[in-house]
Amino acid sequence: MANAYDVVVIGAGTGGYVAAIRAAQLGKKVAVVEKQKALGGTCLIWGCIPTKALLEHAHALKVVQNAKEWGVTIPAGTPGIDMGQVQTRKDKIVGGLTKGVEYLFKKNKIDWIKGTARLAGKGTVVVTEGDAQELQAAEIIVATGSYARSVPGIEIDRTRIITSDEAIHLKAVPKSLVIMGSGAVGVEFASIYRRFGSEVTIIELLPRLVPVEDEAISAELEKSFKKQGIAVMTGTKVTKAVAGAKGVDIEAQTPDGETKKLSAELLLVATGRGPVTTGLGAEEVGLAMDRGYIKVDELYRTSVPNISAIGDVVTLGNGTVHPQLAHVSSAEGILVAERIAGLEVKPINFDHVPGCTYCDPEIGSVGLTEAEAKKRGYEVRIGSFPFGVLGRAKMAGEPEGFVKIVADKRYDEVLGVHMIGPRSTELVAEAVLALRLECTVEELIKTIHAHPTFAEAVGEAAHATHGAAIHL
Ligand SMILES: Cc1cc2nc3c(=O)[nH]c(=O)nc-3n(C[C@H](O)[C@H](O)[C@H](O)COP(=O)(O)OP(=O)(O)OC[C@H]3O[C@@H](n4cnc5c(N)ncnc54)[C@H](O)[C@@H]3O)c2cc1C
Repeated sequence: MANAYDVVVIGAGTGGYVAAIRAAQLGKKVAVVEKQKALGGTCLIWGCIPTKALLEHAHALKVVQNAKEWGVTIPAGTPGIDMGQVQTRKDKIVGGLTKGVEYLFKKNKIDWIKGTARLAGKGTVVVTEGDAQELQAAEIIVATGSYARSVPGIEIDRTRIITSDEAIHLKAVPKSLVIMGSGAVGVEFASIYRRFGSEVTIIELLPRLVPVEDEAISAELEKSFKKQGIAVMTGTKVTKAVAGAKGVDIEAQTPDGETKKLSAELLLVATGRGPVTTGLGAEEVGLAMDRGYIKVDELYRTSVPNISAIGDVVTLGNGTVHPQLAHVSSAEGILVAERIAGLEVKPINFDHVPGCTYCDPEIGSVGLTEAEAKKRGYEVRIGSFPFGVLGRAKMAGEPEGFVKIVADKRYDEVLGVHMIGPRSTELVAEAVLALRLECTVEELIKTIHAHPTFAEAVGEAAHATHGAAIHL
């Protein structure tokens, strides 16, 4: 039967497309149903790729703004940003990568069925719109992802009160921007638009910026943001936002109960993402759900045999916080494809998942924060080393930040590594491997770090954990 497959994947984001490729590599006949005009999902089209492209533009502008220090001569005048060119370059990068996924589908003989999929009973997926048809599948993988959601009382109008979906497409730099929420998305846009010239205010309900990070990281980021002229309001709740023709009037309640009034050209709501399950037929086929998320076990099996779910749309439902990250969705896609093909698979250890936030200064972290390690009963040993001391950081003109290691005093095991500063999103890879291999601090000390590199900060932080930093 032409429309009978071993595996049908719903959604071609970083979860779905990776699952499809791995299943095809393992000899399965695979189809992916995707409703967008391009493959790649949130990460490629609205998320990781466009935001990091914009951040690279912001970094380029930062270098040019400091041209005098670099001894680079440019014609008189203040360097600015051409948003037309920024958008053109960003869209070219996005287009190239989505086409790349199309190529990989062809290479792996994966059928892309263009349309919207609905679960319709055992082994059946109905596609509406586009290539409307009914597909038969021995195994179904749901990877429908997430959408930007607001909080009660704040209505997204996509013109004045916007989400990241609109913030990546702005044709002009807003004079002023208020950002609600200081998770990765919020602080990345704060860095982008502050550098481009906006007056930026970031409002966070919890007492500190990037609340999932180690407290020392939050404090360092707040210090840097304030230095860059980003207004930071923590412990503050946005209670009202009214969009008008020229901007948004915002009311926020500060920690001491005071109501603050602000107005801005745009309000960016970055308060988290909800699961995409509307119209999917999930409940109808009997999938167990939790607040709209699909419940899965640690090998991503749903409550219905032969239907798996991965990525932003799932909850593990055992108290584990499931990070909505591209690399998590891809790891889950590979795990499920291999399980379906009969290979041995093991649950993901979420303590070993790196978190990267590409704001300026960048953040890279993995493992337990100091507070979490103490909560779990460890007697902890801490070591930290500032980037500013390193020759390489001085050369790059990026002296901010530090690497902090959280270790277990008893066995010397590295429990967590938290860094803020230049190249942290790259440097964290060494720390991820260290945790995966249950590395001790001693082993990190004995690992020779090349000179002059930013990575020396990791080696020196390990030395510092044993009270023996060489360059402090
Ligand atoms: C602004 C922003 C920046 C981000 N930056 C990063 C980052 O730097 N690093 C990182 O790791 N993560 C980042 N993320 C998160 C990352 O994008 C997501 O975790 C990741 O895309 C989740 O992948 P997924 O496959 O689960 O879902 P998605 O990528 O959301 O893909 C789901 C796909 O399913 C399709 N779909 C949904 N329903 C149907 C249906 N019924 N029929 C057919 N198709 C359907 C959708 O069109 C979509 O293409 C960012 C997110 C945002 C919003």
